[in-house]
Amino acid sequence: MLRQNGFAVQNGHSQNGTYDRMAKQGSSTLAVHAGEQRRKAYHALHTPIVQTATYTFANTQELIDFMESSIWGEGAEREEYGRYGNPTVDSVERKLAKLDNADAAVLYASGMTAVTSLLLSVLPAGSHIIMTDDCYRRTRQFALTFLQRLGIETSVVPMGDYEAIEAAILKRKTRFIISESPTNPYLRVADLERIADIGRRHKVQTLIDSTFATPINQRPLDWGIDYVLHSATKYLGGHNDLLAGVVVGQADRIAALRDARGILGGIPDPHTAFLLERGLKTLALRVEQQNRTALAVARFLEAHPRIERVWYPGLESHPDYATATAQMKGFGGVISFEVAGDLRSTGNFIDRMQIPYIAPSLGGVESLIEQPAIVSYYDKTTEERLALGIKDNLVRFSIGIEDTNDILNDLDQALAGL
Ligand SMILES: *Cc1c(COP(=O)(O)O)cnc(C)c1O
Repeated sequence: MLRQNGFAVQNGHSQNGTYDRMAKQGSSTLAVHAGEQRRKAYHALHTPIVQTATYTFANTQELIDFMESSIWGEGAEREEYGRYGNPTVDSVERKLAKLDNADAAVLYASGMTAVTSLLLSVLPAGSHIIMTDDCYRRTRQFALTFLQRLGIETSVVPMGDYEAIEAAILKRKTRFIISESPTNPYLRVADLERIADIGRRHKVQTLIDSTFATPINQRPLDWGIDYVLHSATKYLGGHNDLLAGVVVGQADRIAALRDARGILGGIPDPHTAFLLERGLKTLALRVEQQNRTALAVARFLEAHPRIERVWYPGLESHPDYATATAQMKGFGGVISFEVAGDLRSTGNFIDRMQIPYIAPSLGGVESLIEQPAIVSYYDKTTEERLALGIKDNLVRFSIGIEDTNDILNDLDQALAGL
């Protein structure tokens, strides 16, 4: 199976500690080297930041040659204008493609630009998409307001209900099945092989928002998914200092998205691409540390008398533990849990934590903590939030790369006050 070649064998070296001459390069080697030119301008080791809005032509003949190769030929080997492409952006796109075992990647100015540009680029008027619930709130809002206004309907089905996905498919109208895995905030894990199979049988394309997993923990293309999307703002950038998004997939599909990006305009600036490439070099190290700490924290919390429930796919108590174990190499750095408290006392617990910052977002080197009832759903009442499945005592903890023991000690002292 593809996934055996692409994943288990590739990582065979680090897993069993033996030298495997036939193994493909592992994720950390790819994160450092993949996609980069070995010889760069000025013999620089790092990819230069090509900070330019446009590119010059020596004379009219050079411009004519460029036009002929881009219109009728193989495509030109150079850039024309900043909205159509940039060498710093190209370099990080090649690295992102390799990490997800994809042909190609297209980078956007944010995760939401990736979501909106992809859907606007591929969906015709009168079409229909299926989306699983427990997904990023802005993605759902985009579908239910903007796409709705354009005559594109969305069916939202419960996460984990594959019969409901299949039942929602409308013949000749449904174009996309969209899911996240793991999800926010309950870390639900989709059975990717099953979703890919439904898509193939009904000729519907599939998209997974894999932001919470990263290519280190899960590679949906290896399971037959058509498009994978990441908010690179989170783990890929990894330092809470940039916004970006990426879509990876087959070459022809990504080329079409790149053409559409030239019209929609969502390309990031070259400095962001540079920061992302730099952040990616340590992706495997960071994610492995975050996986380790998160599992230790999840087990600690589950055993703690002041904790009512822990949501982490690496715990046997999680509804998707079996799927996660079969499909993921690690379970990621985000844990959600319910403390024995109400809106106010849960906030007081968070305030006693010394290491994490109170902030939205996740996946960076700094631990972040938040109460979804306040940060994402404060405009609703407790009852409305409950109807959406968001309890007032729910806490989302995004583990950073601080020492595991320090995070455990911090939780221990903060919980003692509950
Ligand atoms: C943050 C996030 C997004 C949006 O990404 P931005 O970079 O903030 O625009 C989309 N999906 C998921 C799962 C996210 O966590």
